[in-house]
Amino acid sequence: MKNAFLTIVAATLASGLALLAPTNAFADDHAEAEKPKWSLAIHGGAGTILPENITPEQRVAYEAALQEALDAGTEVLKNGGSAMDAVTAAIIPMEDNPLFNAGRGAVFTWEGENELDASIMDGRDRSAGAVTGIKTVKNPILLANKVRTDSPHVFLMGEGAEQFAGEQGFEVTPPEWFATERRRESLERMKARELSSLDVDLKFGTVGAVALDQNGNLAAGTSTGGMTGKRWGRIGDAPVIGAGTYADNRSCAVSATGWGEYFIRVGVAQEICTRLRIGPSLNEILERPEGERRLITNPKSFVDPQVVASNAQSTADSVIAEIQELGGDGGIILVTPEGHAIYSFNTAGMYRGRANSDGLNEVAIFGGEEAEASNTPDH
Ligand code: ASP
Repeated sequence: MKNAFLTIVAATLASGLALLAPTNAFADDHAEAEKPKWSLAIHGGAGTILPENITPEQRVAYEAALQEALDAGTEVLKNGGSAMDAVTAAIIPMEDNPLFNAGRGAVFTWEGENELDASIMDGRDRSAGAVTGIKTVKNPILLANKVRTDSPHVFLMGEGAEQFAGEQGFEVTPPEWFATERRRESLERMKARELSSLDVDLKFGTVGAVALDQNGNLAAGTSTGGMTGKRWGRIGDAPVIGAGTYADNRSCAVSATGWGEYFIRVGVAQEICTRLRIGPSLNEILERPEGERRLITNPKSFVDPQVVASNAQSTADSVIAEIQELGGDGGIILVTPEGHAIYSFNTAGMYRGRANSDGLNEVAIFGGEEAEASNTPDH
């Protein structure tokens, strides 16, 4: 009898909680659905990015590079292009720019090479492509997408991935294209002083983009050189679908940057999307502040854009807080099906930007630069 009662309580709670999923509630909001909207967020890595750590000239250069990437993705979305095209359009200029740890300007492995990783995911059908250990492809994000569209696989590595690239008509780019003095010096300093990669990198320079297009489709992509001095074929989270990249039209699109080992263990990108798809657990609801708890337990409140945005923010913040509890750091960018573009990071700063069809267009570097707070609670 007691068991039957518990089953009824559980079933009632489950159906109540299912209603909390933002996408379900939003399907009824016709006014919102009629207006085609798009949204884009980008990142160029998180880390110890403080005003005293970068010169005014560097700041200007980073802001210009972020703006260039944001503009490239915006151009695609505002002209009705797909979220997938916007993600690659935004990532390519950052892969080509030596300021970021992706493509040209990637960090060096212990053996003194540049080994590149990238992944991309389409929220329409959750098709995905990823590559790791790439040494001769100029834009690894394009190769990851080719794996998605023209191979029966999701994840290719090293020589095999490069053989596939050759067969698909990608040009061979010489290693000198990727190598920069600044990154070589970081590796040498690390070896000479027996420093960790975190000591020399100070920041994670991985790049990523997430987008919502006017047809309501989501996409996410991430590209990186990994971490300075990586050895033994180490692979971080960036090319791992579910860890560094995830997109699902039912919940969100996420791209991460940070200490990859922790992001893999938590499965950060998919964890955030799954929590948004099924709604917060009872424990999570109990942990939220009183006001938010009242809103979140009322399914009707999910037609309120502020509630949808704050739920996405709290969800992302709580997953990033888990990374912190385990001893890791980094951050994410996220776009929801309703078009909210959100950042969450537990580092001092994150190179980032966002734009949308309502006229938002901003780039930022340090914590708390935006008008709306979007950092983790401890900032
Ligand atoms: N997440 C990347 C990795 O662990 C590093 C980064 O974000 O820059 O390989």
